Amino acid sequence: MNDKKENTCDQCRYFRAADALTGNCHRFPPSFAGDSSPRETHHWRFPMVSSHAWCGEFLPVWQDQISSIGATI
Ligand code: SF4
Repeated sequence: MNDKKENTCDQCRYFRAADALTGNCHRFPPSFAGDSSPRETHHWRFPMVSSHAWCGEFLPVWQDQISSIGATI
């Protein structure tokens, strides 16, 4: 990685796309998002981020590695 553009959320292992421009960051567990909804599952959310955002927790996506015998690990 030698271009800052490549360190954006959409290239991060913690990013899960929601649509073409946004997604959720799964770096940390969901945080409390309010109790206005009656559904408990709506009370906790992963942060929504722009696919072009970035932060200091960035890590590149996992990539397959090739073992010494040529197997994908
Ligand atoms: S760069 Fe930061 S905010 Fe973006 S997905 Fe990765 S950990 Fe989350």
